Amino acid sequence: MAQSPQDILNWIKNDNIQVVDLKFIDMPGIWQHLTLYQDQIDESSFTDGVAFDGSSIRGWKAINESDMAMVPDPNTAWIDPFMEEPTLSMICSIQEPRTGQPYERCPRSIAQKALDYLASTGIGDTAFFGPEAEFFIFEDVRFDQTENSAYYYVDTKEGRWNSGAVEEGGNLGYKPRYKEGYFPVSPTDTLQDMRTEMLLTMAKCGVPIEKHHHEVATGGQCELGIKFAPIIESGDNLMIYKYCVKNVAKKYGKSATFMPKPLFNDNGSGMHTHQSIWKAGQPLFWGDGYANLSQTALHYIGGILKHAPALLALTNPTTNSYKRLVPGFEAPVNLAYSQGNRSASIRIPLSGPNPKAKRLEFRCPDATCNPYLAFAAMLCAGIDGIKNQIDPGSSLDVDIYDLSPEELAKIPSTPGSLLEALEALQNDHNFLVDSGVFTKDFVENWIEYKLDNEVNPMRLRPHPYELSLYYDV
Ligand code: GLN
Ligand code: MG
Ligand code: MG
Ligand code: MG
Repeated sequence: MAQSPQDILNWIKNDNIQVVDLKFIDMPGIWQHLTLYQDQIDESSFTDGVAFDGSSIRGWKAINESDMAMVPDPNTAWIDPFMEEPTLSMICSIQEPRTGQPYERCPRSIAQKALDYLASTGIGDTAFFGPEAEFFIFEDVRFDQTENSAYYYVDTKEGRWNSGAVEEGGNLGYKPRYKEGYFPVSPTDTLQDMRTEMLLTMAKCGVPIEKHHHEVATGGQCELGIKFAPIIESGDNLMIYKYCVKNVAKKYGKSATFMPKPLFNDNGSGMHTHQSIWKAGQPLFWGDGYANLSQTALHYIGGILKHAPALLALTNPTTNSYKRLVPGFEAPVNLAYSQGNRSASIRIPLSGPNPKAKRLEFRCPDATCNPYLAFAAMLCAGIDGIKNQIDPGSSLDVDIYDLSPEELAKIPSTPGSLLEALEALQNDHNFLVDSGVFTKDFVENWIEYKLDNEVNPMRLRPHPYELSLYYDV
């Protein structure tokens, strides 16, 4: 529902709201927030923004040019259910206080630019995204965050974290069997009530909800279903999703993680992303090609597959992401597309005769991505495919896991590490930059940030499993 700044100011006045919480996403993808007394918000807050110091936000401005402004989007307003005092909350984009222009490293503004770019090509005017973010609920997680150690609490017998609400203490007669978490009823499913509360809380925050269920992994893996939405709304919805999941879990004395592979030798958590492009209210992905796809959709697939190694630096942007992208756990390893086949990195879901339901599902992403950046980058890759009529090759309709080594060698695979993905991005980013959606500075800063703060620090630390391998040598 469209709301004007005046609607928000009326809401604050009529409901006697005392505090307003402004939230924005940082570059690595975490919400930051600032709470204002109600008299600090007026019409100008929605145009000039609210000032803050950008130099303390990871990956943003230098200390000598630190002033920034957060500009709330009135359409996002909701009452934050996790705050005692009725608190009106809004999601912000970031702008330069001096020029009033969007900050070039603001992820939400980059998603807006991707949408503007789509419109400028004449191809379409709406890009829908439907993320399916999986996560784990853990009972007891401990790790040492200090600079010079890398310990976490690990069950050495099984080589896995000692974790999971369903695994600790009590009567374990109804523990889900290995890879059979999808999806027996209670008492095997111990997380039903928590998931329902997560889902209904999201709805109160304005997210269109669909369903929830336990997932395949036994250690308390879950998924909540939300409806697809236009690019910016979908990014906003995903951030509310993660906020509700983490905060409801905390209420139950547990914690939730979207880390792609927290448990060795069990399914990881993905964020399969359904996507389609529309123009003037009409879907563009329905047609008479393979799996009822249009030529536009096939070219979009061609663009995603061609740029996938670089794309993954944004859709799978953590060192842990690549521990999920291995064979045998329903996660994609090979860059191919197929109808129904879940071992391909792009799946065309069976969607019946309704053209509006025709979409593709890119199965690589995980929820450690910044959703605005990931959606914008996927859209850029797809548009590149459409503009340059990139042929996606033939579909792969066998189970990729069953192919012989010779057959398999013909199919390109996902990068093996974050370092490989960042190197791919270094060599292939014109599809992001030429359109003006991402700046060259953004791409360079992203690569440098990820190397300095994640890839290299991981490389320098002894891993607990190395102790098991080498301690007795
Ligand atoms: N957890 C799987 C993954 O890593 C997906 C399982 C599913 O939703 N079918 O992508
Ligand atoms: Mg799902
Ligand atoms: Mg799933
Ligand atoms: Mg899926």
